[in-house]
Order: sequence, then structure tokens, then C-alpha cells
Amino acid sequence: MIEFRDFSVSYPAGSAPALRGIDLVVPRGQFCAVVGAGGAGKTTLAGVVSGAVPHLTGGRIDGEVRVDGKSLTNGRMAELAAQVGLVMQNPFHQISGARFSVREELAFGLENLGVERAEMHRRIDRVMADLRLTGLAERSPYEISGGQQQLLAIGSVLVMRPAVLVLDEPTSQLDAVGSRLVFDALETVRAQGVTIVLCEHRTELLARHAERVLVLEEGRLVADGRPEEVLVDPRLEEWGVAPLRYTVAARRAAESGRWPDGRALPTTLEAAVEGFAATPRPTVRAGEAL
Ligand code: ATP
Repeated sequence: MIEFRDFSVSYPAGSAPALRGIDLVVPRGQFCAVVGAGGAGKTTLAGVVSGAVPHLTGGRIDGEVRVDGKSLTNGRMAELAAQVGLVMQNPFHQISGARFSVREELAFGLENLGVERAEMHRRIDRVMADLRLTGLAERSPYEISGGQQQLLAIGSVLVMRPAVLVLDEPTSQLDAVGSRLVFDALETVRAQGVTIVLCEHRTELLARHAERVLVLEEGRLVADGRPEEVLVDPRLEEWGVAPLRYTVAARRAAESGRWPDGRALPTTLEAAVEGFAATPRPTVRAGEAL
């Protein structure tokens, strides 16, 4: 469980706080997405949960953040690293450069921790099977696709058995195929009870996969709810988040009575198709303009 209690942080160089008065509880095993405009504080929130803010960046904090009861702000970075894993935007930058194969790359962090060999192989085999990396075990980390490299970055974190996986825009450098690989992997990770905090500004895949969406605006938490509630909120654009095309199409249709009365606006293609199929057809008489 992650708990923010009236938490604010200001960077040393920054004038305004990057996060302001955040109160938030993310239960264990939840897949929680964080959206917001550029500069809203998503990366800062990811940094706080992973311990990088303020431990590596410096800065002034108020309030408290805990993971499974342990304080992130007072705890030591090494202890946090064991609890929380961070995956960043560019998979290429997360490869150690010190290993020749996917299997060896997955072993890197475990070797540094001194994990016993048999246990190390057990964990690596399990993660490779879970993330469908087994067929790539002997390939160079530099000769696999961007999506597969991002899976490798996720795998390198998962072998450490963190309670929380934080991802900061992990699909921003990937194409549609790579993005789908990452989201499929996150479903597997969620099924194992790992808490997921995913900062992302593209909402299409979130609508399908996340259980909860938080919206940040200028460091404040301005919305918090299920994706099908938050992503159809009429204020979404004001918060700097582009509404989904399915929502936009249905909202326009609703304005001219071509969406079923009282039906929620859709956030997925399937919900849009169902809604339009349930729309009563206008009766058109011969010779009458539509
Ligand atoms: P983006 O989508 O552009 O990555 P974001 O929502 O992740 O934005 P943050 O990167 O968390 O937002 O930035 C929040 C605020 O903190 C911004 O005003 C930003 O300029 C400032 N900020 C971020 N990192 C630092 C830093 N290391 N030092 C000083 N100010 C910073």
C-alpha cells in the first residue's frame, strides 16, 4: 500500500511546488495510472514513490509518503530500492551495457545484491516466462525491439521482487506493437499482486487496463476515479489531457440526440460500438432530408 499524507515537494531550483497537498492511498495490487499535462507533476510523483525525489534530486518536502508502512522520505535509498522498482521512458538507457545477453542482463541487479545462484536462475526463468522473453534469452539486449527492451527493463526490476512497480511514460518511445507488449506485461505483473503506478499521458491503453486514474494539474490531485469516469470528465481538456476519440465522437453524437439517453460516454472502441448500435434509428420518410 502507498500512502501520501498532505504531501508537497519543491525542487531546489524550482519556485512553485511540483506536488502540492497530495492525499492518496493506493491499495496493494492496484493498477493506478497518473495523467496530466506536461509539467503537472507526473514524473515527480513517480520519483517520490521510487525514492529518487528528494533523495537524489534534493528539494524541500512537507507531509509524508509511506510504502507498506515504511516512510519513503526518511528511509534509506537502498531499502526503498528493494521495495519499489522504477521503469523509465527510454528502454535503451536502462540497459546496463555491461552484459551480452538478455539472461545476463536480468542477472545484473541480482548479482549486485549477492543473490544465491540457484535462486537467481529460478527468478530469471520465471520472469522470462511471464514476460515472454524466454525465446530471446541468448540475444543481445541491443538486438531486440524497443518494446522487447522495455520488457527487459521491466523484467530487470521484477527479478528484484518489488512490492511496487513505478513506470514513467514507458511507452512514449514505442510504436503501437511495443506499447501493447508493455501493457500485456503489466496485466501479468498485476495478476501477481504487484502494485503498479503508471505515469502516462496517452490514455487509450489506460482506459482498457488501469483500475484507477489520477489527474494532476499544477501539482494538485484534481480527479481520482475509475477510467470510465475520469476519462469522460468534461474538464479533462482543461486539465491538459486529450479526451479519447471514442468519447469525443459519442459526445458530439449525444449533442444531436444520436447517443442513447443516460448512457455513459465510451472510453473504448467496444463501448462506442455498443452505444452507437443501441442508438434509436431516426425514421426517415422518402424525400425527407436527414
Ligand atoms: P512531463 O509530462 O513534461 O514529463 P510531468 O507531469 O512529468 O511533465 P514533472 O516533470 O514532474 O511534470 O514537473 C513538475 C514541475 O517540476 C515542473 O514545473 C517542472 O519544471 C519542475 N521540475 C521537474 N524536475 C525538476 C528538477 N529536477 N528541478 C527543478 N524543477 C523541476
